Amino acid sequence: MSVMVDIRSVHKSFGSLDVLKGIDLEVRTGEVTVVLGPSGSGKSTLLRTINHLEKVDHGAISVDGALIGYRRSGDKLYELPEREVLKQRTRIGFVFQNFHLFPHLTVLENVIEAPVAALKRPRNEAVDSARRLLERVGLADKADTYPRQLSGGQQQRVAIARALALEPKLLLFDEPTSALDPELVGEVLDVIRDLAGQGTTMIVVTHEIAFAREIADTVVFMADGRIVEQGPPGEVLDAPREDRTRAFLSKVL
Ligand code: ADP
Ligand code: MG
Repeated sequence: MSVMVDIRSVHKSFGSLDVLKGIDLEVRTGEVTVVLGPSGSGKSTLLRTINHLEKVDHGAISVDGALIGYRRSGDKLYELPEREVLKQRTRIGFVFQNFHLFPHLTVLENVIEAPVAALKRPRNEAVDSARRLLERVGLADKADTYPRQLSGGQQQRVAIARALALEPKLLLFDEPTSALDPELVGEVLDVIRDLAGQGTTMIVVTHEIAFAREIADTVVFMADGRIVEQGPPGEVLDAPREDRTRAFLSKVL
């Protein structure tokens, strides 16, 4: 199976705070990787480096064979030109905890924005495909409403449709249900579950352990800027080898 994301020895600091202390991770094409770990362990930063929202200080990240991260080899620091960064980023969908929809645009306009502005798709094609995506996330009837008129669960489903509009090779989810009222979590997990079932390559940061067990091919447990343990859910969730993983799971389960 081919490798979609290849992360090698990635380090990232903010000032004197070492947030990623040497991350090595491979995500195979078509697989779902769930990342768990306590608050502050570096999960969001890791996702953000993969999507070029943060620059790494050392190490390399490639997505679908294209180097998108920075790499220091000896004293040499390779950087992609900004144009290339933007191009690479259009291949990666990102779904945030707090939806990040454009408040002044309708649902439909939110979904077509990137295809039209970044990918230069003709508007009528983008609209057709946005309507299909809204159908897929169960929001066909909300195309002309504004985000503030929607529940959190609906907004997050729009955000997922918007991410899919780029036809991404990779989808990143950063705690997609953490900001939702409990009764709205299920409808968002249903959409993510469907995507997983269709073979979408995804990295999902979540505290929903039961969901992780269900959809993950690989569970990664992070703590303090490092990957403590990784493997199939049956191992990491049900028979963790490391004390820190056990301690974390006993708190969130
Ligand atoms: P997690 O998502 O696992 O909760 P984060 O990746 O958000 O962890 O954060 C890891 C650490 O890095 C935290 O201590 C956080 O305060 C710090 N951090 C994250 N982003 C920044 C930033 N832009 N500037 C300074 N510190 C940051
Ligand atoms: Mg986070």
